[in-house]
Amino acid sequence: MIVVMRHDATEDNVKNVIQAIEYCGLTTHLSKGSEITIIGVIGDKSKLSKVNLELFSGVDKLVPVTESYKLSNKKFHVGPSIIKVGNCEIGGKEIVIMAGPCAVESREQLLESARAVKKAGAQILRGGAYKPRTSPYAFQGLEEEGLKYMAEAREETGLAIVCEVTSIHAVETAAKYVDMMQIGARNMQNFQLLKEVGKTNIPVLLKRGLCATIEEWLNAAEYIMSEGNPNVVLCERGIRTYETATRNTLDISAVPVIKSKSHLPIIVDPSHAAGIRSLVPSLSKASIAAGADGLMIEVHPNPSCALSDGPQSLNPEDFSKLCSELKSLIKIMGRSFNCHE
Ligand code: PEP
Ligand code: MN
Repeated sequence: MIVVMRHDATEDNVKNVIQAIEYCGLTTHLSKGSEITIIGVIGDKSKLSKVNLELFSGVDKLVPVTESYKLSNKKFHVGPSIIKVGNCEIGGKEIVIMAGPCAVESREQLLESARAVKKAGAQILRGGAYKPRTSPYAFQGLEEEGLKYMAEAREETGLAIVCEVTSIHAVETAAKYVDMMQIGARNMQNFQLLKEVGKTNIPVLLKRGLCATIEEWLNAAEYIMSEGNPNVVLCERGIRTYETATRNTLDISAVPVIKSKSHLPIIVDPSHAAGIRSLVPSLSKASIAAGADGLMIEVHPNPSCALSDGPQSLNPEDFSKLCSELKSLIKIMGRSFNCHE
């Protein structure tokens, strides 16, 4: 349930409502906009049976929230959430592009990628140091050494850095280096891991699980947020369907659906959705047109030699071309983009 306060409600009115709710053993979540203030209530509503919140001064109305996810629910927050990662903001007017190799393979490969994506207009460098590979014999990532190269690339280029974490141990290590932690599709329902990143204050990029419904995905965000970390950005990266022409099926409708259900920003990863580099530009444009707040694109200096996801990786030239092409679409959508041409 949420308590919507009247716009003339005083600070004391808000405080009294919060006190009454918490006295009954429930948790509150305050969200203030310029016009309205809402108080989200989490817990067993029947505990409030003895208080009539509607009669409290400053209360406008009570609205039930029937969805199981609360903190990630649009009803719990006035306006969209804007998540700060390094120097950029995701969920505001600006379209944020995260780009870089699937895996950090070497210092040279990473620095070359970082310089190229920065030049094309990306604001965040991606690169996996802990790789969740389908085969145990495939390249598993450089781990902490990879994180050090990511930090060095940030130092040189000024790009913020995002890396996937695949275990509680990786969270502890990555927290020393990264601006954003990624929870990959395979770990979207690894609840211990979600709680662990929830205990930090580092922004989290939460990818949609391969077979997850939107409701399950928002509940995964809830696991992170309920531990105290409100800095969650969602990432649609394609889901598994019967279609085999692409690696996954990009659920483009997830973008407006998320916008209708949650205040959290959503970006799209067309690379893992398509699995084929030639499809990445079209899917990127479709995502921006659908209202996504950003993109995550795999870029490798030499895709044919990549240790992972080469077939879906763009080379620097194609990535730069895509960024230029996106510029006018971003403008039509009433958004802005930091493309340096
Ligand atoms: C990745 O970003 O490299 C990755 C493994 O993505 P996903 O979890 O979406 O498969
Ligand atoms: Mn990848």
